[in-house]
Amino acid sequence: MPPKHNDFLNALKQAQISYETGLSMAAKTTFRIGGKVQYAAFPSSREELLRLFDLCREADIPCALVGNGSNLLWDDDDFLGCVIFLGNMKSVTVCDDTVCAEAGARLSAVCTAARDAGLSGLSFAYGIPGSVGGAVYMNAGAYDGEVGQNIQSVTCYDLFARKTVTFPKAECAFGYRTSVFAQKRKNAVILGAEWKLAFGDRIQIRDEMEAYIARRREKQPLEYPNAGSAFKRYPGYFTAKLIDEAGLKGYSIGGAQVSEKHAGFIINRGDATANDVRALLSEIEQRIEARYGIQIEPEIRTREDCLLTL
Ligand SMILES: Cc1cc2nc3c(=O)[nH]c(=O)nc-3n(C[C@H](O)[C@H](O)[C@H](O)COP(=O)(O)OP(=O)(O)OC[C@H]3O[C@@H](n4cnc5c(N)ncnc54)[C@H](O)[C@@H]3O)c2cc1C
Repeated sequence: MPPKHNDFLNALKQAQISYETGLSMAAKTTFRIGGKVQYAAFPSSREELLRLFDLCREADIPCALVGNGSNLLWDDDDFLGCVIFLGNMKSVTVCDDTVCAEAGARLSAVCTAARDAGLSGLSFAYGIPGSVGGAVYMNAGAYDGEVGQNIQSVTCYDLFARKTVTFPKAECAFGYRTSVFAQKRKNAVILGAEWKLAFGDRIQIRDEMEAYIARRREKQPLEYPNAGSAFKRYPGYFTAKLIDEAGLKGYSIGGAQVSEKHAGFIINRGDATANDVRALLSEIEQRIEARYGIQIEPEIRTREDCLLTL
């Protein structure tokens, strides 16, 4: 290994930042697709994360940020750089009617903490398999709810200004599967979020959550690796219905297939590559445009969307 890399590894060890080399992204994405990454780092505190940014900057190592990898199509080739995972920064606390969570916490952990405290307003999100950071970035949503709707504030590290900034909800620019953090995707690192919720009936909240999970199991192809809805809704249309009507249910390219259970999902039949999925996405876009004259847009994010500018 060249000296620069040995120095980087030594610096990670010295800073006591947990890391791995040669990790396969197929093991870190729900699509089970992706090549190896040179370094994967797992900081366990804000201090470690900021130190990691400094080390990558000093060693001129490209950086990418991944949450739970549940909305991600990671490329097949090796990534020469450092992928940062925030899964060790996962505290969730409840204080009165407010739930605070670090970016690496699972969204489902936030939902269960709210439920246990008898707080309602997040049941819809139970079952969305993302981290708090990824869910806020995407403004993930389901069943008429969106993660951004009850947010009080989001704390973020701005890599350009090199400081921590708290965004009140009004400045988060939440929209359909977007947020100010997605717009600033090269420099905004979400550190945590706070939701202000309403007190409700714990049993009713639990029942709602179970009903939503049951709906997911019934409708979604959870038996295959996937990354959720492949495309965003097009105003006035259900994209899955259009894909189904265009006769694309079950259509496949390589190991990637339009799910027969739910046409809005692309599944990995076992040996799909990122190129298979990309080709399938593009084929669907073209067929929908030819048939309906509208341009649908993927909801799934790519490796490019994870890159940070240090
Ligand atoms: C079976 C299944 C069902 C799904 N159902 C839904 C659904 O109902 N509704 C829905 O909206 N989505 C759904 N999804 C998609 C996915 O779960 C959500 O988009 C989720 O919010 C992504 O979170 P993540 O942590 O996995 O993000 P990732 O996929 O890891 O990353 C997505 C983007 O967020 C960025 N990001 C992650 N963490 C941070 C951070 N801390 N700071 C800044 N940027 C960050 C990444 O760089 C990347 O660009 C589903 C996925 C699956 C597999």
